[in-house]
Amino acid sequence: MFQAFLIKYGEIGVKGKNRYVFEDALISRMKRVLSPVDGTFTITKEQGRIYVEAEGAFDYEETVEALQRVFGIVGICPVVLVEDRGFETLSEDVLHYMHQMYEGVTKTFKVHTRRANKHYPMDSMEVNAEIGGRILQEFPGLTVDVHQPEIMLHIELRSQICIYSEVIPGPGGMPLGTNGRSMLLLSGGIDSPVAGYMVARRGVCIDAVYFHAPPYTSERAKQKVVDLARKVARYTGPIHLHVINFTDIQMYIYDQCPHDELTIIMRRYMMRIAQKIAENTGCLALITGESIGQVASQTVPGLAATNDVCTLPVFRPLIAFDKEDIVTIAKKIDTYETSILPYEDCCTTFVAKHPVTKPQVERIRRSELALSERIEELVETALSTRETIEIRCSE
Ligand code: ATP
Ligand code: MG
Repeated sequence: MFQAFLIKYGEIGVKGKNRYVFEDALISRMKRVLSPVDGTFTITKEQGRIYVEAEGAFDYEETVEALQRVFGIVGICPVVLVEDRGFETLSEDVLHYMHQMYEGVTKTFKVHTRRANKHYPMDSMEVNAEIGGRILQEFPGLTVDVHQPEIMLHIELRSQICIYSEVIPGPGGMPLGTNGRSMLLLSGGIDSPVAGYMVARRGVCIDAVYFHAPPYTSERAKQKVVDLARKVARYTGPIHLHVINFTDIQMYIYDQCPHDELTIIMRRYMMRIAQKIAENTGCLALITGESIGQVASQTVPGLAATNDVCTLPVFRPLIAFDKEDIVTIAKKIDTYETSILPYEDCCTTFVAKHPVTKPQVERIRRSELALSERIEELVETALSTRETIEIRCSE
């Protein structure tokens, strides 16, 4: 029944001369996600509206699912587009639409007409009243409720007339590419993929870094991170995943520093390294999946001690989220099942039995002095021998 979709998008921050930047980024992302979908599509922009039209046969479900992954889209409306051939024909088209959608249904409705074509011979109130009346006559189960209708029937009078009543929710947010690029610290856990998704949803492109500690962490643990990055890339587009061999650094810290401070010091080195890669690759901020109180290193003093080494902004979108809420998002974006696969990650290999929960920045800095210049060499080696994997989305 449907050959086209009307795309609704948020208006925040798109006023004035920036609007086209937002719209063009949205359209270019829509083209990307639709390219592997069965069908041929044209996307057009007209008077603050974006339409997707399919030529001939196409896969409806796949199309909707793809558009639901485009940040910036708040609603996807399957529409019927008809030529303007006078009011009588329009009203037949609308009744035909209603029969297809709501035959035998008992519900309330309201007609909402938008008269974008200022030359249309009737005004929007007249169209509402006339069409509403004809619907009442033909559908015994439908009654009018102008305040909270169950069915909101939209009629948009333009060069072509657009009829719709269904709005499928989109992910919201801002189109990718409208807010620079950031570096996600991606582990195999539940949190970091969700953190990356949330920041990308604000229009930020992402790259990622994973700290791998072979042989303490296996190839399968690394593969799990690659798989997670692929899932995230369905939303964020291609990701450069930098895999850092962290083993020597971890071992050296283990040899030189107090064991109850290991996790914090390791985390400080992760941040330092992520920051160096970020600066070399045009990323303007770091992103982590940290959340207050979740583990010993994520108490407020722990976060402060980790943050002490950061010069770039660090985005922690999950900072005040409960685990349950994070899991809900992980399930929605389909990373949860992969995240809970039981492969060890490098932080669990070297954890102390009793890690400090109230690290003092001064003490940690002093402990790090034991690392001398050798740590700089190890960091340089880890950076120069890193593997970079080009992640494309998994379809
Ligand atoms: P996650 O579920 O994301 O693994 P977590 O609750 O297990 O988080 P930590 O292990 O303390 O918490 O890690 C906190 C954050 O540090 C992670 O969300 C991630 O951003 C980053 N991180 C931790 N381990 C690694 C790693 N091996 N490689 C890359 N980033 C990591
Ligand atoms: Mg983890």
